[in-house]
Amino acid sequence: MTAREGTLAAYRNAAEEAGVTLADIFLRQEAASSGKSESQLRDLMLSRIQVMRQAMEKGLAVPQHSRSRLIRGGAARMNQWLGTGSSLLGPAFSRMVAAALAVAEVNACMGRVVAAPTAGACGVLPAAIFTVAEARQVDQEAVLRAFFTAGGIGLVIEKLASLAGAEGGCQAEVGSGSAMAAGGLVELMGGSAVQVDHAVAFALANVLGLICDPVGGLVEVPCVKRNVMGAVNAAACAEMALAGLESVFPADAVIETMGKVGRRLPEEFRETARGGLAAIPRP
Ligand code: SF4
Repeated sequence: MTAREGTLAAYRNAAEEAGVTLADIFLRQEAASSGKSESQLRDLMLSRIQVMRQAMEKGLAVPQHSRSRLIRGGAARMNQWLGTGSSLLGPAFSRMVAAALAVAEVNACMGRVVAAPTAGACGVLPAAIFTVAEARQVDQEAVLRAFFTAGGIGLVIEKLASLAGAEGGCQAEVGSGSAMAAGGLVELMGGSAVQVDHAVAFALANVLGLICDPVGGLVEVPCVKRNVMGAVNAAACAEMALAGLESVFPADAVIETMGKVGRRLPEEFRETARGGLAAIPRP
């Protein structure tokens, strides 16, 4: 059956027919729509990756403090904990937690980040991809391909649903970031386009209905810690897909369902800071 244009199924079919991976297909598609050469796009992506790395390193090394005092150097503290050998599941897990905190805290403190897919969810993708790449000693080319796959998944979600907390709640921001990272991790580890589809479906299904409730209207609480959840969820979902577990529903159906759920969320759960945690009186 022919898949609808712009769906993950269509990109997956194209990858399978051409005998390439989703990263190749998304890169070709971006070159065709942007008018840039593939080599220019690769350079652009490398420069974005560099910004993500710098944000992560800054957040890990320098305790970040926001003017609201809601952010108080959590990433740097996690990084110190990592050095004590007390990590619950080993250094890679704690490193992923610390990396997600680091990038999201730099954003909360007005530092430079890459909105991927949004500033609020900026820690998910770098934490997931960089941590696994480092732990598995994956080369830079594989990292680059993982980011192209993640970016393409973001485009699909934008087309079929939404990437904005104001439209679809946090499922559309951190949830989408998590789905992008899950698919990117499968690409990073050499998985198939079908496995990417399953990973995306798992990751988004796990966060359906997640509301957007930024305390004080600031992208700090619960946003920063939700980036950690997004990264860890992505790793778990990529691992399941790589192990051969299959989603009952295809990714496109889960993405469209996320869009429908988002449209039905009451306004207080869509970035208005009037519901959820944002409605709790502050001590
Ligand atoms: S709670 Fe809202 S503002 Fe915060 S990360 Fe989620 S979608 Fe963005």
